[in-house]
Amino acid sequence: MARIIGGIGASHSPTIGFAKDTGKQNDPAWQPIFEGFAVLRDWVRDQKIDVLYMIYNDHITSFFFDHYSAFAMGIDDRYAPADEGGGPRNVPAARGHLGLAQHIGAALVADEFDMSFFQGKPVDHGFLSPLSMLGDDTGPWAGAVVPLQVGVLQLPVPSPSRMWKLGRSLRKAIESYPEDLRVAIFATGGLSHQVHGERAGFVNEAWDAEFLDLLEKTPQKLAEMRIADFAVKGGMEGAEVIMWLIMRGALSDQVKLVHKQSYAPSVTNIATLIFEDQGPAPDAAVTEAYRRHIGYQLDGAETLRGTYPFTLARSHENYRINDFLHRLIEPAHRARFVAEFDALADDYGLSDEERDLIRDRKWIEMIRRGVSFFVLEKMAAVLGVSNPEVYAAFRGETLEQFLATRKVPITYSVAGGDKAQEMDRA
Ligand code: FE
Repeated sequence: MARIIGGIGASHSPTIGFAKDTGKQNDPAWQPIFEGFAVLRDWVRDQKIDVLYMIYNDHITSFFFDHYSAFAMGIDDRYAPADEGGGPRNVPAARGHLGLAQHIGAALVADEFDMSFFQGKPVDHGFLSPLSMLGDDTGPWAGAVVPLQVGVLQLPVPSPSRMWKLGRSLRKAIESYPEDLRVAIFATGGLSHQVHGERAGFVNEAWDAEFLDLLEKTPQKLAEMRIADFAVKGGMEGAEVIMWLIMRGALSDQVKLVHKQSYAPSVTNIATLIFEDQGPAPDAAVTEAYRRHIGYQLDGAETLRGTYPFTLARSHENYRINDFLHRLIEPAHRARFVAEFDALADDYGLSDEERDLIRDRKWIEMIRRGVSFFVLEKMAAVLGVSNPEVYAAFRGETLEQFLATRKVPITYSVAGGDKAQEMDRA
C-alpha cells in the first residue's frame, strides 16, 4: 500500500535553477539557497521516497489563456524541460509514475473535483527549479513524479479552502493505491513576492514567518482566508502559496516539523520546509471502501459488448496515434497526410503497426486499440468517407446494410465548405 511519508514545501523561483546551472554553490550571496535544498535532497534520499507528488503552477509556458484550467494533473511517463524563451534548461526529463497518476486522477474525480489531465507537455521552472535541486553529484533524482499543475495566474482561481479539501482527498487517493510506495507531497511556490506593476518587488518576511507557523499548527486558519488576504499580505503572485494547503491537507493532523528555512535575497522569500507525517496507518476496511467508491461510476461499463471506454490508461497508451490524427484539423498536416503519408508518419515516429492501421483504414481495429472515434471522423472527412460508412465498418456491414437499420438513410461527415459539398454529391 502506498504511504505518505511527509510533505515538502519549497519556492520555485527561476533564481533557484539559475543558481544551480551557473554553479553558484560557493557564492555567499547564493549559498543559503543551496543549504536549504540540500536538506530536502538528503531527506528525500534518507526516507527512500519513491514518488514525489509535485504541486506547482506553470508560468504561462505550457498552459496558456486559450484553455486555462484550475487543477491539471500529469498522466505522462516523462516530463521534459520547457523552453521559457531562452531555450530549455539542460536537465533530464522527469520520470512519471503512470499507475499512481491514473489512480489519483480517478479518485479525485470520484470525490467531485473537476480535474483536467495533461500529457505531451513540457514543464517550466515552477516544477523544475525545485526538482532539479534534489539530484546530487552523481546525477538527477532517480525517483518518479506525479505533477499537479494549479492554474493560479488567471482569476478567478479556486479558494484556499478548495486547496485544503483537495489535499484531504489526495491523502485517501494515495493511501488506497495498492503498490507499496513511499510518497512525499511536494508543494512549490512563494513565499511573498509580487513581480508585476508598481508593487513589483514587494516582500513581507514577517507574514512569511507567520504563514509557515500557521501551516504547521493551525492550517485551517489559512484555509479560511481569501485570495485577496493572501495578496495583501504576500503579494499578488505570492498568493500562489495557497498551493501549499494541498500538501498540508494531504498530511495527517500529526506532523513533525523537521526543517524550516527562508532567505530573501532579492524579489522572493525563498523557503524550504519539511513535515514528517506521524499519523496512523490507514484502516484497511476504510481503504477498501474508498477503492469501491473510486470505481463506482464506471463499474460494469467495461463489460458492455462492442464498447471501449476511453480511460486515462488508453489515452496515454495511444497518445501518439491520436495526436497524429488530431492534427488533421491543420490544413498543412492534412495536405501532407494525403500527398506524402509515409514521410509524415516518419516525422511523427509512427510504428509500422500504426501506419498499417491508418493506411488500410482498419476502423474497428483502431477503436479496439484505443484510437478515439473523434479523431477517426476527422480522418474520414479528409479521405472523403462519411460517418455512416465508418459505423458500418465497425459493425462489419456494408453502408447499405447499415443504412437499412436507420429510420432515414442519410450520410454525412464533419467536413466543411467545399469538401462537404463534394461528399454530398458523391
Ligand atoms: Fe510561481
